[in-house]
Amino acid sequence: MNNKNNNNLDLIVQISDEVIYCSNCELCHTRKNAVPGEGSASARVIFVGEAPGKSEDIQGKPFVGRAGKILEAALLNANISRSQVFITNIVKCRPPGNRRPKRDEIIKCNDYLNKQISVINPKIVCILGATAYSSLLGGKEITLNRGKLININGRDYFLTIHPAATLYRRSLLRVLEEDMMKLSKLIVE
Ligand code: SF4
Repeated sequence: MNNKNNNNLDLIVQISDEVIYCSNCELCHTRKNAVPGEGSASARVIFVGEAPGKSEDIQGKPFVGRAGKILEAALLNANISRSQVFITNIVKCRPPGNRRPKRDEIIKCNDYLNKQISVINPKIVCILGATAYSSLLGGKEITLNRGKLININGRDYFLTIHPAATLYRRSLLRVLEEDMMKLSKLIVE
């Protein structure tokens, strides 16, 4: 591991520690564990979902429940291993009952994600689902825009659906798989 990677890792661990002890919004009162995110500190792609769910809250790790298994399978299908990427969410603590994060929670948590993106400086930030799309980029209609690569302020973002959406509509599994294949080509170009 070179010095840059070591430095990145130290900074990512530092951000994770800040998240673990954070009490900036009301979600700190109901969480079991904060979920800062995990993966490579020099990843070529960062995945950004909505918020931790029940399994993630229990384990303190991102995307370890049913949606996580679906994402992992779609990544493997596209020859992307989980250890090569970094996975996190817009908000780092579970909203009670898996409700959508509130606007003030998203705003208060935003700095952690910005810092993670800035330190890792990935080739592409992959947006998973409508909440991440609207929170991070002010976008609407993820289903119409999925599969697209867009550049905003010099940063490339790839848009796709949230893996959890495939639990309710099985036909979306194919869509997620297609998008991950496309992403896999984009990150090696
Ligand atoms: S959701 Fe974010 S801002 Fe709120 S307590 Fe957790 S880490 Fe802090």
